[in-house]
Amino acid sequence: MDCRPGCGACCIVPSISSLNKPANVPCQHLTADYRCVIFGLPLRPACCGGLQPSFEMCGDTREAALIWLTQLEVATAPAALAISHSLD
Ligand code: SF4
Ligand code: SF4
Repeated sequence: MDCRPGCGACCIVPSISSLNKPANVPCQHLTADYRCVIFGLPLRPACCGGLQPSFEMCGDTREAALIWLTQLEVATAPAALAISHSLD
């Protein structure tokens, strides 16, 4: 599938260490209309290029993508992983 214009969910919800971007904060390179200003430039992190749109992540709507990505972020946050490993 193609990236949905006007979404930007995957540039907001996840933390991105190579950009020093915390979770749930819009990327510094994201415009007000949810476009990446460094798309195609070497400055864009490899992890951004590697993240391809998928129905699982993007869903039918921006809201669905925000919810799915938030659930993933919570599940993979360091504290959550520490708790889950302590229960193993
Ligand atoms: S969540 Fe999907 S549709 Fe939304 S910006 Fe990211 S790739 Fe595009
Ligand atoms: S660099 Fe571009 S693609 Fe990557 S999170 Fe920021 S706005 Fe999104």
